[in-house]
Amino acid sequence: MFDISKKYKGKVIQSAEWKITYKCNYKCEYCYQLKDKRVDCAPDVVEKVLEFFKAQKESYLIKLIGGEVFCSKDFFRICRELTEAGHKICLGTNLAAHISEFEKFIDLFGDSIEFITGSYHRSQVKDLDVFIEKAALIRNKLNQDAGFMITSVLMDSNFNDLKDLEGKLESRGVEFKYQRLKSEGRYTKYGDEIEKYLSDKLIDNTDNLAGWISERTICTAGHSFLNIAINGDVLRCYNQQKMYNGLGNIAKGTFRKIPKPFPCFSKKCTCTVPINRGMISKKKLSLPGYYCFIFKEKFFKGTNK
Ligand code: SF4
Ligand code: SF4
Repeated sequence: MFDISKKYKGKVIQSAEWKITYKCNYKCEYCYQLKDKRVDCAPDVVEKVLEFFKAQKESYLIKLIGGEVFCSKDFFRICRELTEAGHKICLGTNLAAHISEFEKFIDLFGDSIEFITGSYHRSQVKDLDVFIEKAALIRNKLNQDAGFMITSVLMDSNFNDLKDLEGKLESRGVEFKYQRLKSEGRYTKYGDEIEKYLSDKLIDNTDNLAGWISERTICTAGHSFLNIAINGDVLRCYNQQKMYNGLGNIAKGTFRKIPKPFPCFSKKCTCTVPINRGMISKKKLSLPGYYCFIFKEKFFKGTNK
C-alpha cells in the first residue's frame, strides 16, 4: 500500500494544505464548518495564493480541501495552474461528485496526483454499493504509485458498520483507515474490543500523539508545511501556538515563513500530517533555552502575531 511517509523518507518535502471552499453538497450533522458561510475562496485570494505557489522555486505537495473541493467553481483551474507550475497535488474529498468528475480529474492531472483521501459520511451516503463501486473505479484509474484511502470517524456506535465497509473496500483493493474521534482537543478512547482491533488501522501516528506534550520540540511546520485558510491566512499547523500561530496572510502580502528549525509553542500536538512527513524531530529545547528563545524573539525580533 502507498505510504507517503516512506515515499518521502529522508527528503525535505515542502507541503501545504489549502482550503479552497466552504461549499459542500453534504449536510453532516457534526460538520464544524460554518453552515451559513458556504462560499468559495474569494477570487482575489485564489489569484494571490496561486501567484505565491507559481513564484516558489521548489515543488510543493499541495493538498486541496474544503468543504468539498469539487463544489468549488475554481477547482479544475486551481489544479491546472498548480500542476503547470510543477507542483504535486492531493485531495480531501467526500467522494460525492459524479464518477465522471473524478475521471476528468485523473485524466487531466494523473501524473501530478500524489494521493486522494476520501471521507465516508454514513448519514449522507444514500447507497453504500455505489460508494464502494466509485471508490474501486477511482483506485483502478489512478496511477498505481498514487495513494488512495477512505477514512471515517469511528464512534462506538458505528464500529460494526465501519468494519463491514472496511472489508468490502479492501476486497476491491481500496485501503480504509479509521479516524479516532477528537473531542475538546483530546482523542477518544473506545472499549477494549475496539482498541485491540484498531492497533494498525488508525491514521498513522494518531496514537503516538495522544497525550504527548509537544511544547519546545523542534519542528519545521510553518516552514516546510503551511496551513492556508480560505481567506489566505497561513497557520503553522493545526494547533494553536503561543507564538507564530498566524504567519500572516498571503492575499494581503503579510505572510512570512518561519525559519527552520523552530520550537513548537503549543502544549499538545494533534497534527498527523507534520509527524507523518518527518517534520517533528526528537529534539526538545531545554526549559531555560526555551524561555531564552521566547525572550529574544519577543524583544529583539518581534513575533509574527
Ligand atoms: S462532507 Fe465534510 S464539509 Fe461536507 S458537510 Fe460533511 S463534514 Fe462538512
Ligand atoms: S509539533 Fe505539532 S503542534 Fe507543534 S508546531 Fe509541530 S505540528 Fe504544530
